[in-house]
Amino acid sequence: MNVLIVSAHPEPRSLTNAMRDAAAEQLRSDGHAVRVTDLYAAGWKSEVDRADFPTLPPGQRLRVPQASGEAFASGALTGDVVQQQEGLLWADALILAFPLWWFSMPAILKGWIDRVYAYGFAYGVGEHSDTRWGDRYGEGRLAGKRAMLVVTAGGWPSHYGPRGINGPIDDLLFPIQHGVLFYPGYEVLPPFVSYRADRMDEGGFEATSQELRTRMTDLFTDTPIPFRRQNGGDYAIPTMELRQEAAPAHVTGFAAHRMPD
Ligand code: FAD
Repeated sequence: MNVLIVSAHPEPRSLTNAMRDAAAEQLRSDGHAVRVTDLYAAGWKSEVDRADFPTLPPGQRLRVPQASGEAFASGALTGDVVQQQEGLLWADALILAFPLWWFSMPAILKGWIDRVYAYGFAYGVGEHSDTRWGDRYGEGRLAGKRAMLVVTAGGWPSHYGPRGINGPIDDLLFPIQHGVLFYPGYEVLPPFVSYRADRMDEGGFEATSQELRTRMTDLFTDTPIPFRRQNGGDYAIPTMELRQEAAPAHVTGFAAHRMPD
């Protein structure tokens, strides 16, 4: 199988990159083809701006979804974006490796998503009508592929537990796992989070990287997070609310969008 790893850390010798390299090494030794996009090493341009749409007439107001859709449809997106889109189509699985910064991903990785996930490629896909709201949340261009987060975090596991002060890790990662990965169709595997990362020593690295290697070996067999599919009958159209029949009214928030265990 083909695996694309996208990593976002400014220091080549960082723990995050060492975890990434352990993952890549295990995948290769398991017989997979692996490509790595190191966003800092590549000098990735993270901001969406007019330069992303070279065929937009001068003086025309930039409306990003429209410009993105027209550039995608006419093959006018910039080369760096097209190359990354080709990587996503090539890969059977995508891994995003990053340090948790302010409860989310580093800006450079967010900017990779903002630019690579063009209209018509990752959103605005499929029929939009009174009875259908596009191919998304379990369907879309990247359906049939798997995705997983490999995250380092300074906090302790308990800080991210059900009653931890930072909020549950599943909630914090929901916008990425559900909003960024499940949205264009990926089956999302449970994340691999290395806690207390700033205090990691060599012994800790050996143990943690071994756990990650096991997760890599199971990448194509592990059970994905059971997010509800948009077009699976659980949601009303066009309100996009969970139907009463799918879950009782007291089931709300992020957890409502997972099938019950
Ligand atoms: P590094 O600094 O590269 O390494 C960490 C430790 O691992 C070092 O002691 C290093 O020696 C050791 N190590 C052991 N083995 C190896 C090896 N083989 N290779 C490399 N290093 C090794 N944390 C949170 O929990 N929540 C937040 O919201 C949050 N926000 C942050 C925001 C910012 C802007 C910053 C800078 C940090 C934030 N943190 C937060 C902490 C952050 O998550 C950690 O600093 C980060 O995950 C550590 O990973 P790293 O790759 O940068 O580690």
